Amino acid sequence: MGAPDTQMRETLGFQAEVKQLLHLMVHSLYSNKEIFLRELVSNASDACDKLRFEAIARPELLEGGGELAIRVSLDKAARTITVSDNGIGLTREEAIAHLGTIAKSGTREFFASLTGDQQKDAQLIGQFGVGFYSSFIVADRVTVVSRRAGAPADAAVEWESDGSGEFTVSPATRAERGTDVILHLMAGEDELLSSFHLKSILTKYSDHIATPIRMRKEVWDKDKSAHVATDEDETVNQANALWARNKNDITEAQYQEFYKHVAHDFADPLAWTHNRVEGKQEYIQLLYVPAKAPFDILDRQHRHGVKLYVRRVSIMDDAEQLLPPYLRFVRGVIDSSDLPLNVSREILQESRDVRAIREGSTKRVLGLLEDLAENRKDDYAQFWAEFGQVLKEGIGGDSSNRERIAKLLRFASTRSDGAATVSLSDYVARMKDGQKAIYYVTADSLAAAAGSPHLEVFRKKDLEVLLLADRVDEWMLSFVHEFDGKPLVSVAKGDLDLGDLADAAEKEAQSKAAEEFKPLTDKVKAALGERVEDVRMTLRLTDSPSCIVAGAGAMSAHLARLLKAAGQTAPESKPILELNPQHPLVVRMQADDACLADWAALLLEQAILAEGGTLDDPSAFVRRVNALLATG
Ligand code: ADP
Ligand code: MG
Repeated sequence: MGAPDTQMRETLGFQAEVKQLLHLMVHSLYSNKEIFLRELVSNASDACDKLRFEAIARPELLEGGGELAIRVSLDKAARTITVSDNGIGLTREEAIAHLGTIAKSGTREFFASLTGDQQKDAQLIGQFGVGFYSSFIVADRVTVVSRRAGAPADAAVEWESDGSGEFTVSPATRAERGTDVILHLMAGEDELLSSFHLKSILTKYSDHIATPIRMRKEVWDKDKSAHVATDEDETVNQANALWARNKNDITEAQYQEFYKHVAHDFADPLAWTHNRVEGKQEYIQLLYVPAKAPFDILDRQHRHGVKLYVRRVSIMDDAEQLLPPYLRFVRGVIDSSDLPLNVSREILQESRDVRAIREGSTKRVLGLLEDLAENRKDDYAQFWAEFGQVLKEGIGGDSSNRERIAKLLRFASTRSDGAATVSLSDYVARMKDGQKAIYYVTADSLAAAAGSPHLEVFRKKDLEVLLLADRVDEWMLSFVHEFDGKPLVSVAKGDLDLGDLADAAEKEAQSKAAEEFKPLTDKVKAALGERVEDVRMTLRLTDSPSCIVAGAGAMSAHLARLLKAAGQTAPESKPILELNPQHPLVVRMQADDACLADWAALLLEQAILAEGGTLDDPSAFVRRVNALLATG
């Protein structure tokens, strides 16, 4: 056997996910089939950008110059459309890798999660990008002939597939560097065999492409009553960088199409901000917030979405230094006038200029989000649902903007029907007279938070409580101690001091209960021994007999569980057991000395379960419940 002979024709299978993608796309995107041209032109433009960039260090790749351009041509007799470019080109290995697999981590998991419902899955595929494979919406055979810049004429490659499961690669020759993508149109797609039609598609979707797109010029022939080709070429796009144009000269649709090109997204963006920054640093920023989160957004290794240009030359695709990690969902371009063309990631890391750009861009994005939150509430709610969890990372990660980010946070609360729509400012605005703190409860799920026994007294007093169930919430709140001068207080921590909200009668009842039940709390404490820090009576509860709270300085049971789940050690902190003096079970326990130890353990274990915790010895719990049930 040995290595495959690169001089030979080889037939290879698509990666399983590519097959799935092809199938879904052809069936679900048919109504939007003209996007194939947008995708191919987008790739041709990327290929030209890549060549411009590589040629900075290796000018010989330009092979004596020649303008970089994209050409769209058609052959009515052969029923083909060809998109050509003289960009970077592909080697045989690159053709196999890039046109046969999807090289994104998590792709397999993503495809495994598809529902099988084509409508829904097509939406998901959209956020994944459709790209080269969209050719198969209109073509039953696609041929790619490509030669890598710097390779000799006879080292080109021909890639071909009918999109059903396999592709072939064979050696080929190509007179110049670059790529032709030749679409053999399916039967019934003849309307695409019109220059006029193709031109209108290009104007609609690809006008923003900075590289010129050329087509053969056609003129109207009166005698033939038809458009006929001339020998002349024409450029069908504006052929300049969209972000460098004047804002007033760019239409909303052009901004949206440009987004799809830079973000490799299929859907329109949610919002964007476009600015020319002058002064010490000169740069242009065109930054977008997508409408949908990509499937791997929570992965902190997720590729950043801002492309760096230096004086219109594309330098880097995912320049993570241009925005902080918690804004990694932002897409777009930053074009600097000051950085050197040969800037590397290492230089970016160190550069003070880049730091200034990052700070400026962060402020712009936060400003854009504030504007959404203020003026387009529905869009902000959508943003929050998609990216809120990522933005929350900024509370810990970006201390200089912490207050601005805190205002952008949204929570579910006991007043919001489970939707995360409540801002801290909303909460503060409707705080009760005499209420001094912002109250919150954390749990593993919203349902558990909403059902927490700790909320009982808050319901009774009609006080709003924020419900926190995101993994990052508790970590996040460790950085926000107050908002608008109001402390944030966990309802499950420490002595609940409702301050002025507890009326005098209640305070008296509380101390009376403490006194009256002292013999009981002492006995319960003795019975539970090492399992609790303390036992006391509470007015927190109305319906439940017991609850556990963490000591004022201690870590909550919820956070301790999260840390353990993440494989970290959590300091052992024992809970405080609180008992409801009004509850019939507590009253009964008081009268049942014989079974007191069982009652005490039961009330503790119940409280742990109600918090979403787990028991060390569940079978002992079941035995106790049964024993007490049996005694009636
Ligand atoms: P994306 O553009 O999002 O990377 P595509 O499916 O559109 O995904 O393209 C897949 C890959 O194929 C590209 O990333 C690129 O490496 C390669 N490719 C496609 N078209 C060309 C071309 N005209 N020239 C060079 N490489 C290309
Ligand atoms: Mg593409």
